Amino acid sequence: MFYAQILTLFPEFFDSPLSCSIPKRAIEAGIVSVDAIQIRDFATDKHHKVDDSPYGGGPGMLMKPEPVVASIRAARDRHPDTHVVMLTPSGARFTQAKALEFTEKSGITLLCGRYEGFDERICDYVDEELSLGDYVLSGGEPAALCVLDAVIRLLPEVLGSPESAVLDSFTEEGILDWPHYTRPEMFEGKGVPEVLLSGNHAEIEKWRTAQAIKRSKKRV
Ligand code: SAM
Repeated sequence: MFYAQILTLFPEFFDSPLSCSIPKRAIEAGIVSVDAIQIRDFATDKHHKVDDSPYGGGPGMLMKPEPVVASIRAARDRHPDTHVVMLTPSGARFTQAKALEFTEKSGITLLCGRYEGFDERICDYVDEELSLGDYVLSGGEPAALCVLDAVIRLLPEVLGSPESAVLDSFTEEGILDWPHYTRPEMFEGKGVPEVLLSGNHAEIEKWRTAQAIKRSKKRV
């Protein structure tokens, strides 16, 4: 079974998204296990403090190294082979190829920041830093959820049709999915491309490939 450990100040963030649709089914089928671990539990002071103001001044608070690193150590104790990923806007961009790479591991640990981010020294305790994109979220939780969701749907036996994942956008680098149509054949004056109604599978395949390439060139 693939495992995911999430180090977070808001474990409850994951309850709802993991209790519906594909992630829910994957968890129930025993294909993936998800543990959201409270970083605050690793703070040893009386007030369970996890943040502090930045040296040198400036706005906001930073995640303190002691509780965060203790939570990473606990995650490594539970799964000594774990790959620890810090979610941060300054990380490398998360991609479909990275999601696929993660499915080849026995599991991952996702570290979520809050406030103005992490004390820089925490970076020395993680294996990789990943960003979801060039924008700033209020916490690492939505980013961790996206990574987890992208990985879960690629795990064997998760999707009803394993072909779906292979045909998705980005499976081939830079290539988007082709346009899809379903019933009705006519919707508010807009029809379905003739070729899709032809039953000619070779022509349909050719059309789809051409459309995928056209769309990918247009959107890059
Ligand atoms: N001061 C930081 C900066 O400008 O890079 C932003 C901190 S952000 C408000 C708080 C946390 O949200 C980060 O530590 C990180 O865990 C998460 N986060 C925000 N944007 C993200 C992104 N694009 N990708 C991954 N994580 C992100």
